[in-house]
Amino acid sequence: MTKVPFFRHQLGSREVAAVAEALEGPILTTGEIVDRFEEEFAAYLGLEHCVATTSCTGALHLALLALGVDAGDEVITTPMTFVASATAILQAGARPVFVDVEPRTGNLAAENVEAAITPKTRAILVVHLYGQMCDMRAVRAVADRHGLAVVEDAAHCVEGRRDGVRPGMLGDAACFSFYATKSITSGEGGAIAVRSADLRRRLRSLRHHGMTKTAIDRLRGPYEHWDVQEFGWKYNMDNIQAALLLPQLGDLESNWRRRDRLVQRYEAALSDVTAVAWPETVPGSKHARHMFTVWVDPEHRDSVIAALQRDGIGIAVNYRAVHLLSYFRDRFGFAPGCFRYAERIGASTITLPLYPAMPEEHVPLVAEALKRVLRGD
Ligand SMILES: *Cc1c(COP(=O)(O)O)cnc(C)c1O
Repeated sequence: MTKVPFFRHQLGSREVAAVAEALEGPILTTGEIVDRFEEEFAAYLGLEHCVATTSCTGALHLALLALGVDAGDEVITTPMTFVASATAILQAGARPVFVDVEPRTGNLAAENVEAAITPKTRAILVVHLYGQMCDMRAVRAVADRHGLAVVEDAAHCVEGRRDGVRPGMLGDAACFSFYATKSITSGEGGAIAVRSADLRRRLRSLRHHGMTKTAIDRLRGPYEHWDVQEFGWKYNMDNIQAALLLPQLGDLESNWRRRDRLVQRYEAALSDVTAVAWPETVPGSKHARHMFTVWVDPEHRDSVIAALQRDGIGIAVNYRAVHLLSYFRDRFGFAPGCFRYAERIGASTITLPLYPAMPEEHVPLVAEALKRVLRGD
């Protein structure tokens, strides 16, 4: 009965044809189509290298390992994110050390980082929340003062930039997601963009068991014994996923323009509603517009969500603060009051429908429904 879907993908005959072509080829796993995707995605980002993976979570995990994060280390991150940013740190054997966010954007506040640094700190993992980049110049400066690595969770931010800085330009590694609702998708998938050729080599080894040869090498030449020189994981993207992704790269900018226009319409439609606010877009920022979230009174957030859904509006919550999820409370002893801005955002956020092919007339439908619900009629 949903009248206004939260999200719809727009894969079609072009992607079907690309996958059909991949299936005609001899290699279904990581091969030349993945190489081509890695080259084209790196070129889009303006970066030297890309290593394609099966998810952004795996990409974050590998990036941390490749940058030397080890058991017992600490990694500073934000509690206002998808849980994967924090679990990747745990997967690397390290401890997530949260710092509070900027109240007006929800992004990790660079000025809070220094106070959280200890002798165990190895890295800072930032998240470009909803598609708006963090203040990467400030983050890089703190990291350099203390000899820390910087990993960017850019799952929301393929198209974004800020003051001339794009994802991966100042961080040591930028991680992307091609999960079902992301701006290009293979259902599941991810990538790590890096500037260093050494790091790229390390990541390619780590994503495939630390093996010195892969299936494609066997096709290119006679069999040779392979070796395992380090402990690795199994996170390699396959040719079918890469075939799905390649045709979508050309649509990134036009899809971004459509989402940007829809957000402008949302902001105009809600500008006179005092009970609704939303994260600020800072000057100098090209917001990737991955999501449009609004903030309502935390007292009423859950009832507003229920009422919108009764009206047939698809919604989500991105996100409730990670440190207050049960596992993190139980393991690390977090409680309400630890990070007040992240908690306030987590308690007041509602994500509204947004995707490139969303009909523009859905924006006033959603805005009117939200106003009606907030008025209580
Ligand atoms: C989607 C998302 C991830 C995880 O991506 P997967 O590809 O599903 O592993 C990580 N961080 C953020 C901020 C995300 O939105």
